[in-house]
Amino acid sequence: MSFVKGRVVAGYGNMITASFETNVRQNEVAYVVTGDQRVKAEVIRVRGDQCYMQVFEDTRGIKVGDVVEYTGDLLVVELGPGLLKQIYDGLQNPLPQLAEKTGLFLKRGVYLDALDRATPWDFTPIAKVGEAVEAGSLLGSVPEGIFTHQIFVPFNFIGQAKITWMANPGSYTVAQTIATVENSQGKTFDLNMVQEWPIKIPLKKYDERLLPVDPLVTGCRIIDTFYPVAKGGTSCIPGPFGSGKTVLQQIISRYADVDIIIVAACGERAGEVVETLREFPHLVDPYTGKTLMERTIIICNTSSMPVAAREASIYTAITLGEYYRMMGLHVLILADSTSRWAQALREMSGRLEEIPGEEAFPAYLQSRIAEFYERAGLVRLKDGRTGSVSVIGTVSPAGGNFEEPVTQGTLAVVGAFLGLTWARSNARRFPAIDPLTSWSKYPDQMRETLDKIDPEWIQMIKDAQKTIFNGSEVRKRMDVVGEEGTSMSDFILFLKSEFLDAVYLQQNAFDAVDAYNTMERQVYVFRTIRSIIRKEIVPKDKDEARNLFFRLTSLFRNWNYSVWDSEEFKGYEQQINQFLES
Ligand code: ADP
Ligand code: MG
Repeated sequence: MSFVKGRVVAGYGNMITASFETNVRQNEVAYVVTGDQRVKAEVIRVRGDQCYMQVFEDTRGIKVGDVVEYTGDLLVVELGPGLLKQIYDGLQNPLPQLAEKTGLFLKRGVYLDALDRATPWDFTPIAKVGEAVEAGSLLGSVPEGIFTHQIFVPFNFIGQAKITWMANPGSYTVAQTIATVENSQGKTFDLNMVQEWPIKIPLKKYDERLLPVDPLVTGCRIIDTFYPVAKGGTSCIPGPFGSGKTVLQQIISRYADVDIIIVAACGERAGEVVETLREFPHLVDPYTGKTLMERTIIICNTSSMPVAAREASIYTAITLGEYYRMMGLHVLILADSTSRWAQALREMSGRLEEIPGEEAFPAYLQSRIAEFYERAGLVRLKDGRTGSVSVIGTVSPAGGNFEEPVTQGTLAVVGAFLGLTWARSNARRFPAIDPLTSWSKYPDQMRETLDKIDPEWIQMIKDAQKTIFNGSEVRKRMDVVGEEGTSMSDFILFLKSEFLDAVYLQQNAFDAVDAYNTMERQVYVFRTIRSIIRKEIVPKDKDEARNLFFRLTSLFRNWNYSVWDSEEFKGYEQQINQFLES
């Protein structure tokens, strides 16, 4: 391979300035040759006859005068069978294999194939010799875990071609040729099961973007009932340190009704990431009974890895998601936390000496955030099927102050906002999603689907939100005037809103039954709660009112902890009905 060559001129942290011979392009990959190591970097700005490069690894030992090799290629990921179950770093190096090869301390300059070259796959051809194909045409398929992994003509294939040879059904590795095609100029290409796509360019080889209209059921009541996310939609979970973002993301990753989960553990402390890695492979998939890893990909960068790899990780995650979407699958990307990603942008911008915007973030922060979330979506594929990528990103603003650029920039583009607060997590009201400030734009968009669940659903939710709001107003007044100064009707309103909070908004992530509610169960339980809230209650004094709601709360809690439709469940239901009829 021949490279455009250059030399290191200066360095500052992970930023290196280098010369080049002929020309280089923005975002191309380059290698700095230092000693016997080739260290990967990305060109992030070209100015005159020099360019700035962000080195993806430790820059120790790199000297002025070291040779730079420019590849001319953008930063890409490998796509093909074998992505599922993998744990990658931000540059798609398989971490366990990398650790095996280089020991506990990952060595610099060692890059491994993202997809194992030795694994055999059971290939079934679909396309036939003589057929006309183009980028994205289906060639065949292999089984991958519980899915059928489709093998396409590479999405970056240019022009039309004709299949001149097709492999027989059988066992092939990803690098073996499974088809040969000839383009209109008579040039032939051997195609295999692995292809590349640049991570910063959206993979848009679908027919049409559709408006997401179906809910992505997470099993978490406050989300699905009050602030739902659509399949193909976006949502943001901002919350201060320790408010429960990671626990919430884990619970969503486990139960969300999607096919594939991609976790981008971005720049969190190493300890937390190790915890994710240790736990995840043991989680049981509630839908298949196998391990959750079978349909999961983890992209992981800790805050101790270089910032450029962290910046890349979020794009790597979404590109892999777009690839599986092309197979008609529903993918959920969980990015935890996007604040660490934004910090990486800030560090890089600082080293480039760009004019800083708010809180020293670059002026283009907002557009980068928007570009990322815009890659989510529901699409119709060329064969008429649909596929989706949904994104849920956490934001960890310092001190829990949502008035900062990353939270605000994210709120401007996402469809739902699930704000976690210390007030709720300190009171151990988990998940600590604030019912007063959170919002979702999806109920209106999903109206038709929700009306099918229950024609009154949307109105019921609005009424319940009103109860929560009014109850919290009473509580604030009560803090000043005390219980004696509060009227009986206000007091009951307060008790009703606390009841709704305790038995519906709060949910125990660590209880096997309570952790996940089907939509059917949510609708059923929520209707019953509404009947309680609508019921006129005339107690003789406030103590009696308090006792009544205390009993109701524990009754409903037990109901929540019992298996749907079991004898136990029906027993509690009977008690509830007796109360409603009294
Ligand atoms: P963050 O990622 O926001 O810093 P974590 O998700 O790590 O916070 O949560 C911090 C702690 O709060 C957890 O270790 C756990 O004890 C508690 N917690 C969080 N969410 C829940 C929940 N849904 N149910 C019970 N406890 C929770
Ligand atoms: Mg966390």
